[in-house]
Amino acid sequence: MSIPKLEVAGLTKEYRDGAVIAVDNISFTVESGETLALLGPSGCGKSTTLNMIVGLEQPSSGDIRIDGRSVVAVPAGRRDVGLVFQDYAVFTTMSVRDNLAFGLKVRKTDKAVIRREVYKTAEFLGLTDCLDVRAGRLSGSEQQRVAIGRTLVTKPALLLLDEPLSNLEASARPVVRRELRRLQQELRLSIIYVTHDQTEALSLADRIAIMHHGKIIQAEETLRIMQYPGHVQVARFLGSPPMNILRGRLADAEGGVQFTHAAFSVLFPACALPGGVRERGPDKQYALGFRAEDIILVPPEQGLWKGEILSVEIRGSDAVVNLNSHGSLLQCVVEHKRKAAPSAGLPATRNAGAPDIRPEPEKEGLPATALRAAGANPPASDVFSLRTSTLVGLALAPENIVLFDGDSNLRLESAFVPKQL
Ligand code: ADP
Repeated sequence: MSIPKLEVAGLTKEYRDGAVIAVDNISFTVESGETLALLGPSGCGKSTTLNMIVGLEQPSSGDIRIDGRSVVAVPAGRRDVGLVFQDYAVFTTMSVRDNLAFGLKVRKTDKAVIRREVYKTAEFLGLTDCLDVRAGRLSGSEQQRVAIGRTLVTKPALLLLDEPLSNLEASARPVVRRELRRLQQELRLSIIYVTHDQTEALSLADRIAIMHHGKIIQAEETLRIMQYPGHVQVARFLGSPPMNILRGRLADAEGGVQFTHAAFSVLFPACALPGGVRERGPDKQYALGFRAEDIILVPPEQGLWKGEILSVEIRGSDAVVNLNSHGSLLQCVVEHKRKAAPSAGLPATRNAGAPDIRPEPEKEGLPATALRAAGANPPASDVFSLRTSTLVGLALAPENIVLFDGDSNLRLESAFVPKQL
């Protein structure tokens, strides 16, 4: 059986006579065998989109096609689309076997076929040992497996997963995520995975479509959307922490064009400005973006800007440093584990030649997170600590700065930014 392709064209859903536009003219495709993540904050229209695809909601306008055939007029049960809800929706008083058999019984499938398919599905999902256990006695992740099994057993052409991990305890999520990945690889279904959690989208999706206020603002291959956010809201949503965004204005200045946000400014050489940037002055807004990972902390006198450390959040192998830089809150990420240097001939850091920030082992008077600015041969002298209120310098390679149009919020193509990754 061929793996189907889904096309959604100009789909809109309005409630309360148009007072609420839950989904606003969205179009996207899910290619055969592809997993697309619909990623966005709560209330942006993800579930409404799924409900229209499965047939639980009727669109206000637009079309949904599976393998080129419109299914808008096809009743939910006949669309060949399986939906797994976030709250499992298993019958807790029924056995796992009866839960798995439910969809096939409704379809009046032959008993022998039901027995065979239920067993095959249970085997695939590792549920054979609990086929006769009441579903309500199972753990959250086992119940989620039953919910997925109930849908899979009916062999849907398209699988829709609505926040399938959000009701699971944190420790169970990576396990179920791995199971979902295996399921994707072995079944080669076309899947839409709805989530507000970027970690899930990044680890499971071939492509990610970012939703915001009912619209899809960017849909792109997973790696590319991370590296190349085309919209301010995408840049604000992706990454941990997300990109630093400052809204401000441009003015001609000596040596180039100056971006100003409150007391914070950057001078762009005129040749480095994106081609579309013509308007200057007080009436036109731009947004400047740079990643927390791209900021390099250096001694104050060596930085492009200065910043005062407000707080330091230690994570696994790095730390997020919150800074007040000229009145703006900026976040930067600093590694605090020294990695073994690669073999000779390879640069030891991403930015060869740039100051490199490495952790200083704990010693008297310095916290474990103390940093030093170091070159290829790290000098031991210019050590400064990452304590609150410490003044540091912020260095940033110009190619890591991106500019967005302040009105459309779309990214402006920059002379700095490589178009092809
Ligand atoms: P998400 O799944 O991204 O959290 P939803 O699709 O559930 O978002 O909801 C999108 C928007 O539509 C929200 O503002 C929500 O309040 C609204 N909405 C959803 N269902 C209804 C409904 N039946 N009546 C009115 N508004 C609704």
